Formats: sequence, C-alpha cells, structure tokens
Amino acid sequence: MSERLNQLLLGKDLDALLFFSPENLRYLTGFSGGEGVVCFRPQGISLLVDFRYFEEARLEAGQCEIHLLRQGMKGLREYLKERRFRRVGLEARAITLSGFQEILQEGIEFIPLTHELDPLRAVKTPEEVRKIQEAVRIAERAFEEVLEDVRAGLREIDLALELEYRMRAMGSEGVAFEAIVLSGPRTALPHGRPSGRPIGEGEVVLFDFGARVGGYCSDKTRTAFLGKADPELRRVYEVVLEAHDRALEAVRAGVSFREVDRAARQVIEDAGYGEFFGHSTGHGVGLAVHEFPSLSPDSEGILEEGMVITIEPGIYLPQKGGVRIEDLVLVKDNGCEVLTKRDCELKIL
Ligand code: ZN
Ligand code: ZN
Repeated sequence: MSERLNQLLLGKDLDALLFFSPENLRYLTGFSGGEGVVCFRPQGISLLVDFRYFEEARLEAGQCEIHLLRQGMKGLREYLKERRFRRVGLEARAITLSGFQEILQEGIEFIPLTHELDPLRAVKTPEEVRKIQEAVRIAERAFEEVLEDVRAGLREIDLALELEYRMRAMGSEGVAFEAIVLSGPRTALPHGRPSGRPIGEGEVVLFDFGARVGGYCSDKTRTAFLGKADPELRRVYEVVLEAHDRALEAVRAGVSFREVDRAARQVIEDAGYGEFFGHSTGHGVGLAVHEFPSLSPDSEGILEEGMVITIEPGIYLPQKGGVRIEDLVLVKDNGCEVLTKRDCELKIL
C-alpha cells in the first residue's frame, strides 16, 4: 500500500497526501475514531486528531506520528505551512468545500485526487477477507432467526430493528448500514427505508442487511414471499435469479467490471424488464459498504484477485413490487468464492 502511494507522490510530484475519510484513516493507521487527517509522506505517516481522539489515536495507531490538532482545519493549515510543502494531494471526495477554503494558502498548490485513490483498498488481504467473512456469518445467523418470526401484521420496522438488534447482540459493531426491510409495493423502492407498514399475507418481503466486524462490512439481500407468491413476481424472481447466476459465473480476475454487469443485465433485458433494473450489478465492499469498484455499464476497469464485490441484480415494478438477490463474493484467478450462503432459491415463508 505504501508502495502504491509513493508512486502516486512521485508521479504527481507531490510532497504529501492528505486523507480525511474515516475508512482511509482506519485503513492507513488503524485509528477507528473516524475524525482526523492522515498526512502521508515517503518518510512516514502522521495522524492528526483533536483532543477528543488523542489518547485513542496513540493506542490504535502507535506506529504513526500522532499530532494534536488544535482549531480543526486552521490547525491543519499551520501544520502544512510549517512543513513548507509545495504541492499537496487531497482526498477530494472526503473534504468539504469550507474545509478546503480553510487550508488554502499562498505557496502551496493543492491537487484534488479522486479516481487515483479509488483502487487503494480494493484488493483485500486474507486478514481483511476473514473480517468480512465474520461479518457475513453474524448477519446470516441474525437473518435466519428473524426469518422464523416473519408473520402477517408485523411491521417492516419491527423486523428491521429485530435484525439490527440480533446482529449487534452477536458481536456486530453497529451495523454496516441501516437494515432495509420492505414489503408489498414498497419493495419497488430499491433503497427504501423500513416503515410502519404491516406486512400482509401473500406479499413480497425484501431484506437487505449487513454486519460490521473490525470495521469491515457485509452486504446481502434476500427477497421472500409470505404465504404465496404473486405469479408475475414469481416470474420476476426467476429472471433475477438467472441474472444473478450468470453474473456470478462471469466473475473472475481479468474480466472487466462491465462484462459482469452485462452478464446480468442481458438476462433482464431479454426478459423485457431492462428499464426496471436501474442500478449497477454490484459494488466493492470493505471498510465502506459501497466502495470501488462499481459494476455498471459505464465502469472502467478489470477485476483483480482479492477484490470483494457484491452481485445484486434487481427488478422493480412501480406500485407492484421488486425483487433483488444479493451475494458477496471474493474474486479469484479462476472464478470466485461466494462468501454468503447461496440460499437464494425462491422462499415462501
Ligand atoms: Zn445490500
Ligand atoms: Zn449492496
């Protein structure tokens, strides 16, 4: 990782790189406090935090130089000035415009970096994969328990809370993201939030959830039917499952992001539902639940061994209902390892 960053410094003639996102702070230093700045230089990594996080930073990021940041971005401005930097690269997606204005100064040229930093965390080490697997295990156990409780009359929010509670009780650090539980026509909202709507007999129910271990997320979606499945949604389910399986078969190191997306999208288009699949086929998962790469029709890039990505095609019919099936996979040289259980056959609860 240092090697990659050193090359970036050299290639862009930079004296230092500044990182602001909680994920990169944790990735580069081990610090989990979430707030602060990492200054990367060939000589070493410095972590700048304010008083609230100083002790925590010393405990978690002992191998870095820890610098007490006074007055927030003003303090960072002084820090940069004292070190006489000329050109500094910024994690542009993670600094606010007002923060940027506060560090601006004569004599330093700031270079915003976006896609240059994307691949940084994409390939996981075995240790990172182990944490993701543990998050998967917790989330799946919690889900299996909750699934047994699903019955007509329970509200979406009841099931979402139950799922989150069980994940936390089983050792998840918070949740990877707010659990999504949707029912009936609300399943047509790809990222809807659980509401007070009671689930009715014969309805479709969609669960999208993830746990977090050592900072690392899991992400999985299952769609089930309560009592019986509506004939059209049953057909939609079969199409989504077919798209999901074709995409999984396409995953292998060396294949482009687009090809994997195409494998899923083709099935859905051929079935006449193309316009109802408006999101990407998958995304990277790690310290952030959504990270590089994105598997979409306009993505640039190629899968590498060790990437952890989701495969999650979906079809959403407005006012009727939606189906999404999402699994988490580890990219291998000769294919992939599905990290989630492949329990994706149509389920009647
Ligand atoms: Zn998801
Ligand atoms: Zn996802």
